[in-house]
Amino acid sequence: MSTVVGTDQALRARAARVVPGGMYGHMNAVFMPPNFPQFFARGEGPRVWDVDGNEYVDFMCSWGPILLGHRHPVVEEAVAGQLAEGDVLNGPSARMVELAEVLVDQVPHADWAMFCKNGTDATTLGLTVARSATGRRKVLVARGSYHGIGGWSMAPTARGTTEEDHLNTVFYEYNDLASVEAAVAGGDIAAIAVTPIRHDVYRDLEPCAPEFARGLRAICDRIGAALLLDDIRCGLRVDMAGSWEPLGVRPDLSAWSKSLANGHPLAALLGNDAFRDGAQKIFATGSFWMAASPMAGALATLRELRESDGIGAMRRAGERFQAGLREQASAHGLVVNVTGPPQLPFLTFAGDTDFARATAWAGECGRNGVYLHPTHNWFLGAAHDDEAIDRALQGTDEAFRAIRERDGGD
Ligand code: PMP
Repeated sequence: MSTVVGTDQALRARAARVVPGGMYGHMNAVFMPPNFPQFFARGEGPRVWDVDGNEYVDFMCSWGPILLGHRHPVVEEAVAGQLAEGDVLNGPSARMVELAEVLVDQVPHADWAMFCKNGTDATTLGLTVARSATGRRKVLVARGSYHGIGGWSMAPTARGTTEEDHLNTVFYEYNDLASVEAAVAGGDIAAIAVTPIRHDVYRDLEPCAPEFARGLRAICDRIGAALLLDDIRCGLRVDMAGSWEPLGVRPDLSAWSKSLANGHPLAALLGNDAFRDGAQKIFATGSFWMAASPMAGALATLRELRESDGIGAMRRAGERFQAGLREQASAHGLVVNVTGPPQLPFLTFAGDTDFARATAWAGECGRNGVYLHPTHNWFLGAAHDDEAIDRALQGTDEAFRAIRERDGGD
């Protein structure tokens, strides 16, 4: 009897030989339930197909970058047009200035923009600018928050980092001003880094308390440190002007990436005039940072998002999805907690401390054509239309039924 080995399994086996273990696919994809694919063939609108031809309604959106749907025609046309002219040149194209102008108009705290590639570039650049402007060394980071793979932002236990990498990082607790006061007491603070909401893995999403955001602003003003908002995950999904604009709190620096160019590689650091001098004195560059085609893609993405009220579309789709999940869980007698802004939803099961039930449920969702994650928040996009949400809710209903049949009700 011959065993049929799918393309995904075959690619995993080949990758195991030539790519250090687990580095195939998006690195986080290795934490997906075992039946989830690691390798993908294509995406279109709100859907993706794995290399074995299975179709999914996609609620990870490439872990954030896909904002308007996969292969959005207007964005792809802008990128293709720029590629036909030139992409990586001896300096930036006019698109860089145009994009900086658009971002400075769109984001009230920003007087200037600098571009790079990944989120880690943007947050690390933010810290470099803050240090350059203040002449100080330390950065405050909320325990459990993710700001990329710069040594300064990783857990002190992270393998391959040194004690020295963490010397200038001081931890505080999200939404706890007293812990921030304690952390700044040692002085030498260049920046306080913060995410717009608490979206750490392995926990329900938690909104930022408005008084916490205001308190951070006041502390930064008092001690002369930069408030660095890491808008890499929420940016352009919550508010085009920045995710703390609804709270009325403006950072000094904000880091953007992921969704900026609908999947094309681009990140940005935005800043205010107080940090302009510090920014212009640093040395920061990258071989691909000035590539013109992602900037053309970003211009098209921002125009399209604004003109089509893309954030409104993803919010409405997310509200339908969240409401549907709550109703289904309750109908199956399962107690769940659905959290997060509708554009970045997440679901946990009551009492599921080891996330075993969430993992089993997500696995069933995958079998039923819905790609979402058991321990990391999900992402909606403007391409999630009613049909995609209806199709997804059929899959999630089957998944709840399977869990109910396996475990019984709560
Ligand atoms: N900050 C936040 C809040 C993020 O979610 C991420 C990526 N998940 C990063 C920084 C790092 O971005 P990148 O993976 O593009 O370096």
